[in-house]
Amino acid sequence: MISNKELADLIFPEVHETIQDLEKRYPERNLPEGAEVTRFAPSPTGFLHTGSLFTAMVCRKVASQSGGVFYIRLEDTDTKREIAGSGEQLLTQLKLFNVVPDEGYLATHEEGNYGPYTQSKRADIYKVCIKHLIEQGRAYPDFCTPQELEEIRKKQEEQKLIPGYYGEFARDRFLTNEERVQKIKDGIPYVIRFKSNGNHLNKIPVHDLVRGDFEIAQNDQDIVILKGDGLPTYHFAHAVDDHFMRTTTVMRGEEWMPSLPIHIELFETLGFKKPNYAHLPVIMKVGEEGHRRKLSKRLDSEAAVSFFLEDGYPSEALIVYLMTIANSNFEEWLFEHDFRNIEEFKFSFDKMSLDGALFDLTKLQFFAREILGRKTKHEMRLMAESYSKEYNPKLFELINRDPLFFEEIMNIEREKENPRKDYYKFGGMEEIIGFFYNDIYEELVKQDLPWNEKFDKPMICKVLNELKKLGLDQEESEWFNQLKEIAGGLGFAPSGKLLKQEPDKYVGAVGDVAEMLRITLTGRKNAPNPYCVMRILGKQECDRRLNQMIEKLSK
Ligand code: GLU
Repeated sequence: MISNKELADLIFPEVHETIQDLEKRYPERNLPEGAEVTRFAPSPTGFLHTGSLFTAMVCRKVASQSGGVFYIRLEDTDTKREIAGSGEQLLTQLKLFNVVPDEGYLATHEEGNYGPYTQSKRADIYKVCIKHLIEQGRAYPDFCTPQELEEIRKKQEEQKLIPGYYGEFARDRFLTNEERVQKIKDGIPYVIRFKSNGNHLNKIPVHDLVRGDFEIAQNDQDIVILKGDGLPTYHFAHAVDDHFMRTTTVMRGEEWMPSLPIHIELFETLGFKKPNYAHLPVIMKVGEEGHRRKLSKRLDSEAAVSFFLEDGYPSEALIVYLMTIANSNFEEWLFEHDFRNIEEFKFSFDKMSLDGALFDLTKLQFFAREILGRKTKHEMRLMAESYSKEYNPKLFELINRDPLFFEEIMNIEREKENPRKDYYKFGGMEEIIGFFYNDIYEELVKQDLPWNEKFDKPMICKVLNELKKLGLDQEESEWFNQLKEIAGGLGFAPSGKLLKQEPDKYVGAVGDVAEMLRITLTGRKNAPNPYCVMRILGKQECDRRLNQMIEKLSK
């Protein structure tokens, strides 16, 4: 009779360590009572998903507020799906959102005593645990070919049974060790499967930090734990890594919830204490068809964090927005604290909604306006610079022509009691502020301009000519009075209301005059306050633009 130990030695002759050795190598962490150890465990298979940023943000928060540790583990066991460089990119992007790990995989290197933090470098550790399970009779080699597995699946489908490798369908769990050894010696390829003792008709109690207590069917699947390439599957690696990295709370997307019974059985069989689980709600979107669906990498640009970076959204805005999804009381807190010291907000799982939250771009833009509205002109310049340097060469060039001039543009109605909240992103800013720069302005005014058809060209010229009298050394209110006076002198009513009351008495209202001024100076109808625009352009440049427009219109 060949014993399980002999089988295990045949499969893993090079493995001499035991689980006890690993327990010693990765001892319990020495942390204060209540400190949480959390982790973000991305697979390097593509860009950082907005939902993943959400998870990572909550992990960071829970660790920070409890005085614990947040680490990153790179789950790169699916070599077929790996995209070169995406691990590094994930780290860079997380950092832009201030989600910085205390230890773990850090792209250029790893830090911490619980590594390696890259799963492909942990093959030895997994093998120790798998060898242990084989010795205990709780894992075995499975020699089924893909065709044979397909046949099993078909049979189950015909009989309307749950698919999978379990019970009587788990063909190779019934082999004797002699047969196993013979097949291995014959060079037949195999994977290693876990031998489940569960029954899916039994219910087991589980606790989830977001969902509370409920029951779930026990696992009965003999899942693959070691693939043919010598690397573990997610399920097995999760149990081993979260145990030996001493994770206290596993936070992950709720799509992992159905796998929980497998994980529970693995933890129990390996003799590991289970971590706490929090299955976080998935971020949704209302699709064209009108029903809710998961934010999709394929269909929704906002599913990728890079979308917000490339369009120059302030990173704080996305974090603040995601935090309102995480905790329903956060928004109120935020305004009470005037967007200051956000890290002091106390997150709690109880305040997390169970339903997937709907992604709301308008809401995000609202927060972005609030955030940018609170920045100084200098902060605005630094943010615009760092965004444009990476993503927007045109804007970068404009800023660098004269950084202080750019700051003045940013300062329009900013450093005052009720600042305007004009901007929610830096993407496209080169279009909005382009008219301040003469070369761009000249191009703009070559196009058809949005003049009000009520006024003919000679009338517009007459107005523009008078507007040269506007002084710029006065306060805005005085300036506006002067504008009204000029308008009055030309037969324009001092307000729209008065024009409405006596339409025959006036040619238009002061607003029409302001619009002509705006179009002349900026080439657009919608532009910032003309007083501020004129102050930034300076008297000389304003007169030049006025004269040039008069000349153009007189042709
Ligand atoms: N690598 C898994 C994923 O990217 C991680 C799930 C988990 O956090 O446990 O979905």
